[in-house]
Amino acid sequence: MIECIFTVDYEIYGNGEGSLRDLVYEPAERLNEIFHKWSAPFVVFTEVAELQMIEATRTDPAIDLVKRQLRDFHRSGVELGLHLHPQWCNARHMAGRWVLDYSEYNLCLLPQRRIIEIVDRAIGYLRDVLAIADFTPLSFRAGNWLFQPTQAVAEVLAQRGIKIDSSVYKGGMRHQYHLDYRGALRNGYYWKFTDKVDVPVGDGVLLELPIYTQMVPFWKLLTGKRFALEQRAHSLAQPHTAKLYRGLDLLRFHHPMKLDFCRMSLDEMRSVMNALLKQDKETPDVYKPVVAIGHSKDLVDFDAIREFLKYLAENGIAIGDFRQVLKRLEHQHA
Ligand SMILES: [Zn+2]
Repeated sequence: MIECIFTVDYEIYGNGEGSLRDLVYEPAERLNEIFHKWSAPFVVFTEVAELQMIEATRTDPAIDLVKRQLRDFHRSGVELGLHLHPQWCNARHMAGRWVLDYSEYNLCLLPQRRIIEIVDRAIGYLRDVLAIADFTPLSFRAGNWLFQPTQAVAEVLAQRGIKIDSSVYKGGMRHQYHLDYRGALRNGYYWKFTDKVDVPVGDGVLLELPIYTQMVPFWKLLTGKRFALEQRAHSLAQPHTAKLYRGLDLLRFHHPMKLDFCRMSLDEMRSVMNALLKQDKETPDVYKPVVAIGHSKDLVDFDAIREFLKYLAENGIAIGDFRQVLKRLEHQHA
């Protein structure tokens, strides 16, 4: 059985550019309408660090709309996950733009004390926004998918009551950040982990539900849609070192293509699902949660999303959120 989990990272551009209304509030409103029409759930991975800083400095008046939207989402049953880009935690707003602290780019590389501070502050902010004193997100996604080295962050998240991570994308490799998820290609559709996010252990403290990927020859990633969205995101020139590292990443012939419902064309999405349907025919008893990713800032082609939802319905593919996945797995292992 296949179950598709749509997740959307709810955030402005990674360098601090862009407005909350254009890149977060309005696209999320439209996405919600579409999913509502299909009575389908989706998960909002709220990037809390930027919202906190924007609110504290009142640099974007749409922060109040965003907070109201989060409250409305929660009330209407939309699952809110925790997403963190820690470079925002020490950010300063100078001469009309954000200067982010890239020394804190990877939460996993920070001292334990700092990890606890950042995670607690983020959960506290979500509680304030929702006015629910004991709200705890069920799921987590690391900024830039960086969940290595794993142990310290996994422990803190588990202690706080978070149960699921969705940061891994199988086959992923980024030289610049020492990210290497190639080992996860050996894993199944989900697994538990403690010390290493890509290494399954039976009694792990967190459950990994990786972002679904398909390994494809590099040229398959060179599509117009993907390029246009990347151009939108990289309005500032990247430094030479970043380009060099990216070049190293691209030396591989096969690359992981994430199931990205914002960046993929309808044909690409359908072809990924067709391959999954074929697998499912061979092993119908194997539960196959498939996590799709999107970004509020990349939500442009709503027609493709509408058509993809229609395709899923026509093919009898269920759509769930992490709460449903967890229930299903607990039931399976009971
Ligand atoms: Zn993000």
